[in-house]
Amino acid sequence: MRRVRQPKKSSRPPLRLRMVVLGVQGSGKGTQAELVARRFGLAHISTGEIFRREISRRTALGRRAERYLMAGKLVPDAVTNAIVGKHLRFGRARTHGFVLDGYPRNRAQLTALERATPVTHAIQILLPDRVAVQRISGRLNCACGLSYHVQYHPPRRRGICDRCGRKLFVRDDDQPATIRKRIRIYHRQTAPLLAYYRKRGVLLQVDGRPAIAAVFRRVLTQLRRSMATP
Ligand code: AMP
Repeated sequence: MRRVRQPKKSSRPPLRLRMVVLGVQGSGKGTQAELVARRFGLAHISTGEIFRREISRRTALGRRAERYLMAGKLVPDAVTNAIVGKHLRFGRARTHGFVLDGYPRNRAQLTALERATPVTHAIQILLPDRVAVQRISGRLNCACGLSYHVQYHPPRRRGICDRCGRKLFVRDDDQPATIRKRIRIYHRQTAPLLAYYRKRGVLLQVDGRPAIAAVFRRVLTQLRRSMATP
């Protein structure tokens, strides 16, 4: 009997969607990244969230990252690139794809990501700095990773997380002086990456001013449009 040749198995399954979400602090990029990840079954990888979790667990990485977060500065690239690289190689990120939130934040991180796995989409959530500062000022967080806003996205019970019932808190780096510093770093180091993604033809831009659900609808419309275009 003639043997039927089996197609060669690839050790790396094809990744359909590999996205980054960019936007100034307070633009709602974390919320949109979470929604997109859930809708398409992708891993949501938030570097800020990873660092905060490590800090609260008092791990070696957490102890190393803490002073940078408190000062509103970027954690060194070698540390950040290694962490992201690890997350991209495992679990859902490897099998289904990912949405990166808060990474890349500068040229060195962009280069590392392009080498590891070039993205299929870069979504920029647009928001003027003035509105961003207003938004961050009312932000509330939960240890489980969800975030709220006193005015735009309040929890059902005041000060309590809808998902896990824990008490909400204001992040140390959401204090006004630190916010301004983080926004400055965004404009200086992260915003220039948009030109690269535009040139590569993968940049989508969405107005971040409307309500969360409306922004998400626009993100989906743009994504579908881009997927329909060969
Ligand atoms: P975020 O929640 O994305 O605003 O991040 C909070 C803080 O985590 C930042 O101010 C940095 O100190 C650190 N951080 C998050 N992402 C990165 C990154 N890609 N590179 C370096 N530091 C980061």
